[in-house]
This record gives sequence, C-alpha cells and structure tokens, in this order.
Amino acid sequence: MGRIGVDQPGRRMLLSGNEAIARGALEAGVQVCSGYPGNPASEVVEALLEVSRDFDLYVEWSTNEMVALEVAGAAAATGLRSLTAMKNLGVDVCSDFLMTVNLSGTKGGFVLVTGDDPAAHSTTTELDTRNYARMADVPLLEPSTPQEAKEMTKWAFELSEELGLICMVRSVTRLSHSRGVVELGVLSRERRKPEFTAPPPWTSGSSTFACMFHDMLHQKMKTASEKFETSPFNKYEGPEHPNLLLITSGPSYTYSAEAVELLGLQDSVGILKLGTTWPLPEELLFKHLRLAQEVLFVEEIDPFLEQNVKMLAAEFASRGLKPPKFYGKKSGHLPAVGELNTELVLRALSGLTGVSYSPRPSEYASRAEELVGGYVPGRSMAFCPGCPHRASFWVMKRALKWEGREAVVTGDIGCYSMGLLPTGFSVEQTLHCMGAGIGTACGFGKLERFGFDKPVVSVSGDSTFYHACIPALINAKWNSSNLLHVVLDNSTTGMTGHQPHPGSGITASGEPSPPIRVEELCKGIGVEVKVCDPFEVDEATKTFYEMLKERGPRVLVFRHPCPLTESEKKKRKPRVYVDQEKCIGEECGCMAFCSRVLGCPANIWDYSKGKAKIDEVLCTGCGLCAKLCPAGAIVVEEEK
Ligand code: SF4
Ligand code: SF4
Repeated sequence: MGRIGVDQPGRRMLLSGNEAIARGALEAGVQVCSGYPGNPASEVVEALLEVSRDFDLYVEWSTNEMVALEVAGAAAATGLRSLTAMKNLGVDVCSDFLMTVNLSGTKGGFVLVTGDDPAAHSTTTELDTRNYARMADVPLLEPSTPQEAKEMTKWAFELSEELGLICMVRSVTRLSHSRGVVELGVLSRERRKPEFTAPPPWTSGSSTFACMFHDMLHQKMKTASEKFETSPFNKYEGPEHPNLLLITSGPSYTYSAEAVELLGLQDSVGILKLGTTWPLPEELLFKHLRLAQEVLFVEEIDPFLEQNVKMLAAEFASRGLKPPKFYGKKSGHLPAVGELNTELVLRALSGLTGVSYSPRPSEYASRAEELVGGYVPGRSMAFCPGCPHRASFWVMKRALKWEGREAVVTGDIGCYSMGLLPTGFSVEQTLHCMGAGIGTACGFGKLERFGFDKPVVSVSGDSTFYHACIPALINAKWNSSNLLHVVLDNSTTGMTGHQPHPGSGITASGEPSPPIRVEELCKGIGVEVKVCDPFEVDEATKTFYEMLKERGPRVLVFRHPCPLTESEKKKRKPRVYVDQEKCIGEECGCMAFCSRVLGCPANIWDYSKGKAKIDEVLCTGCGLCAKLCPAGAIVVEEEK
C-alpha cells in the first residue's frame, strides 16, 4: 500500500506537499480523483492511485484537464467527495467548466488542486492560478507547509460541502516537491452511495436562472468570507503595533518568518500570514492595516494580495483607515518574476527597516556551482539516450533540407518541446500551450492566398494529440488547411513521468483498455495518415519528404516507444560500440558527428585516443548513431 495510506493517527511522517494534499483528501474521505499529468501537481493523483485499491477509490488520468474537472464534478454532484489536480496551465484548459460549475454548485465536497510554478521550472509560463479563484469567485486556500497542505485539503472538502461550492487549494513547486513532517490524522472509511436527483437541475443557469445562480454564488462567497475571518489558517505573529507589517501566503510565509528572525526584528515587524486568500478576510485585514504604518507584501508570481488588499484599503478609507505605505512587487522591493527566497526577503526588509545584514558574498553562487560541479557534470537540456524524438527531428531536418524551402515548424508541449533546442536540431520554431502547434498551423496553412509559400509542419506528442489536437485537426480538414501534422508517438506521457494515455492500452489503475490509435482517429476524420518508425531513418525521411510535398491536411505518425518505460527497460538491448580503427575522429563532420552533432548523451569522446566511444551504461542500443556514422565505425552487436 502507498505510504499516504498508513493508518496510524498521530504518527509523524515525512511527506512531500503533494503527498500531504493526497493524505488530506484520504482523511476527508475522497472517493473520486482525476487529473491530467503536469508538473508540479502530478504526484497528488499518483499518491491516491497507489492507495486506490485499499481505499476503494476511483482514480483516473483523463484526456485533458477539462474532462478531469468534469469527471470529478459529476461525482461531486452525486454527493461523493471528489478531487482534481492539475498544473497551472491546466486551469486555463478547464476554466470553461470552472466558470459554470461555480454557479451550478456541488453536493459532495469538490476540490480543485492547482500546482503553480514560480520561475517556470517545468512549464512554459508563471501563470498564477489565484486569479482564477477570483474570476470564478470560489474559495481559495494557500498552504505554507506540508502539514498545512494536509489540513487545508481536508478542510476544503468540508467547506465545499457546507457552501455547495467548488474550493481551490493552490500549491507551488517548492511546496509540492519539498518534504516536511506531517502529523497524520484519522483516515475516513466512509463510502457514500452516489445519488443524482432532480429537481433542481445541475446547471449554471439559462437566461432565466443565470442571475439567480450568480446571486447565490455571491451569498456563498459571503458565507466563506465570514468563515475566513476566524480561520486558524490565518495568523498574526509580532508586536501589537508593528512598524512594518508583512502580508504573505504560501511558502513565502516561511521565507518571511526566517528573514524577520535572522534580522532580529520580531519586536518591530509583524507577519500576517493568510491561508485563506480568496475571498479575503476583510475584517482581519482592517484590524491589522489600522495598526500598521507600512506594509510589505511577500508573495510569489502575481501581486495578487497586493492588488486586492490595496483595493480593500481604499474602501476602508470610508471607515477612517489612513492607508499605510505599501511596498511589494509594484514598488520593486521584491522581484515581479521568479521565485522568492529568504535572501530576497532579507534584502527587502533591510532596505525598509535600515537594519543591515551581510548578504552572501557575490561569489557564493559561483563557488557553490564549482563545488557541485565536482560531483555532478554539467549537462545541457537534451533528449535522453535512445530517445526516438532525436531520430524524428533528425529525419525532419534532413527531409526539410531536401525540400529546399524554409518551412514553418510549430511545436507543442511535451518532451519534444526540446525540438526548439540543439538537441532537436532546432527544427521547431514555436511553442505555446497544449494543442497550439496544430492550431497555429491551421492559420499558417491558410495564408497561401496572400503569397505565403512556406511548407507548414506541426509537431505534437501522442498524449498531447489526444489532449488538445483533435479539434484543430478537424478544423484543418473542414477548412482545408495546408499542413503536415507529425505525431511523435512514444506510447506514453513521457515528460511527466510515463503516465498512460488513451493510446497506451491501459488505464491509470493498470486495467486493460483497447488502445485508441492516432491513425484510426485520423482516418475517421478523413485525413490522410501514415505511420513509420523514426529509427528507420531512410524510410522515415522519404515518407516525410513525400508527404511534405502533398497538399491539404495530412498526418504522419512517428511511432517508437520511449526507452525509459518499464516494459522497454526490461527488453534485452544490443551492444553498441565504436570500432576506433574505423572512426575518423576530428576529421568527422563538425569534428565528431556522433558526440557533437547528434548529441546522444551516450555518444562520448575518448580524449586519450582522439576518437569517439560509447558509454555502454547509458546506451539503449537504438542504433541511430550507427546508421548515421559516415565511416561505418559504430557497430551494433545484436544479442544472441
Ligand atoms: S560519427 Fe562515426 S566517425 Fe564520426 S566521430 Fe562518431 S564514430 Fe567516429
Ligand atoms: S545506439 Fe547510439 S544513439 Fe542510440 S543510445 Fe546508443 S549511443 Fe545513443
């Protein structure tokens, strides 16, 4: 059984923020969980998946975040407690349903967990999902520690049920992926029976009811606001009349507390830590704003608290509040982008209070890098050894060169986003959001009438194809867009940890499910489709080149499984080595084609001999380098 299922109330365990969220859901009696893989939120679903049999949970990876929210929403409408987890951009995808299910409401506790990514470590934007809570007008909780992540998630179910309204819990990368001590509570074994009764209908309204439901939403949020005034998740620490008040939420609270302590400012600086950040606890804020002359907002990504508290302060003027001086991102005391840390808060505090501190010496970072570098060799972003995407991008590069015209190649979200980088030979030229590769290609593919004569190629992975490309492919067929869409099918959702998808042949829980083939979907839409293995380099290049010259929408599937999936890792691999007698060393293309151009991490250089060699531990035996070596110096020795 997964570690979050330990039935020992009172035991203290080291859990990641995501595991703590999942544990909180278990303690609340969650019965249905759904999501789409995406960092930093995937492990919430995975942790619940691990205990799904023992706790009789239904857990699924859905085709996209919109469907995930709808699946959980349906279960919640029948009275079951349900949770959906997704990364920040996933909330964009599901926002249509979010903006209506807030009105239709819920019967069972319904919780949306969002994983934001300050500094965009593993996503394409720093989108701040707190703005969605405000836009949809739904309660928002922001934990600061794993313990709080567990407690808040559990409470979010209760609150949701009490209000009849979906609740959001917002985590960020540092919380989701760091570990902390969590005291376990009592697990719920309650299993409810789903009941869907009408009337009233489960709807966001029509012209008749829309305003009525909107008004009901306002009433629910008023109740939430009243509850938040006394929530134990909001707390103040510091003197009664602070010279400076820090208003903060999430992990930024821990940076703030540490910075205040390091500077010895506990007697003059107060910290108002908010755990319930939408709707804001107005009276609590009024009480503290009245007592402070200066306020510093410490929060990550958008100035969400900063803007909303400033608006409240303006309203409080009618109650006699003399607005304090506000500092934060707007004033430049804290950076407007990227993650915060204790050092940044120390600097801001020192600037505002005049208390000096010794910043880390400027060479600290470079020295740390030097020391770490002694143990961990530097590595640029690259496809893994044996990755089929390397072969696919090589094939595309070669065929586009044959074609002669400069092409437009639109990319998408997944491992193959690295097609923009040298590891993908910089074949891709665009990157936005899920499905935008083929969607924008539809646009490029209609510009011929205005004199645009470049071939248009879009690239997506298999999981992305199911997630967001199908409507655009239908659009391409319907409107006769001139584009070649390439699906890099590695039979898994690679970048987020090898979760299955509709083409994998299994569900999240490992149940067999007939694979939905990309080519069958394309045929159903009436689009020409071909499938080939990118490691068959010559055939794949010829197929791509020929399809490039055709007109109208067409799809080429480059299919080869990711070598890191469990089933592939179990297979015996051929031994691949360099016959250094034949290797032409630095006479080779770009002074060593395999290690410098092809860029497989297993193609390395033997400095003692001035010849190529292969790291046989890393090599997966894909044979791509052997096919491309101009001297025929790389030998693939099949297993006997
Ligand atoms: S591609 Fe072949 S010839 Fe060139 S460096 Fe590598 S092994 Fe040697
Ligand atoms: S065969 Fe060549 S390209 Fe494939 S994994 Fe091994 S070293 Fe890399």
